[in-house]
Amino acid sequence: MDADPADALADRLSEVDERIAQAARAAGRDPAALTRIVVTKFHPASLVDELAALGVRDVGENRQQELTAKIAELGPRADLTWHFIGQVQTKKARAVRAGASVVHSLDRIRLADALDAAADDTVLDVLLQVNLTDDPARGGVTPADLAALAEHAAGLTTLRVRGVMAVAPLGEHPASAFARLAGHAATVRATVPDATWISAGMTADFAEAIAAGATHLRIGSAITGPRPLHG
Ligand SMILES: *Cc1c(COP(=O)(O)O)cnc(C)c1O
Repeated sequence: MDADPADALADRLSEVDERIAQAARAAGRDPAALTRIVVTKFHPASLVDELAALGVRDVGENRQQELTAKIAELGPRADLTWHFIGQVQTKKARAVRAGASVVHSLDRIRLADALDAAADDTVLDVLLQVNLTDDPARGGVTPADLAALAEHAAGLTTLRVRGVMAVAPLGEHPASAFARLAGHAATVRATVPDATWISAGMTADFAEAIAAGATHLRIGSAITGPRPLHG
């Protein structure tokens, strides 16, 4: 048992990194080619600071208000890359773009246009989120609409399509869900050949995601500990 919560955080981080490395080696992949994003949602900005002190560079948030508030609290931080992983309301596109360097959750043409319209002089990395469930209320473009979204986003010069993102559905083995995602990634590469990123894998299923080719892992509670309750 660790008496010091900072030691416990460091221990969980290194334990997860070791499990990532093991899963990569088991899949014949180079662990250094994987980006481990620590999802800090519902935790205070001070946790982001503690993670940064442990060498974490990539952090993920799923709500725009929380992203904006944490960036305001921490101030300009060249050492941090903010990944936005939640559903984006079109009217919040400007605020998301102002804070995040990567948006993993581009799932419709209207949102692509809104992110493009909110451009400053930078190019925003985007991933096309694919809905792997049969429930249209879930985030993500349907596989049937993915190619059209890829073509549209690829035509917007302020966005750079880097690949795909998905969450494994409940009630399906993650390996089969992530195998389908690999096929969707190939669909996007047919339009954007260098869109090689696959954002997949959370606390419960990152080993399966690595085995299926994930390049960007979004890991929360295994590193941060349980999320505080939120209202
Ligand atoms: C919260 C969240 C994660 C991390 O979930 P954990 O199970 O805590 O690792 C990953 N991706 C998305 C989209 C999330 O909202």
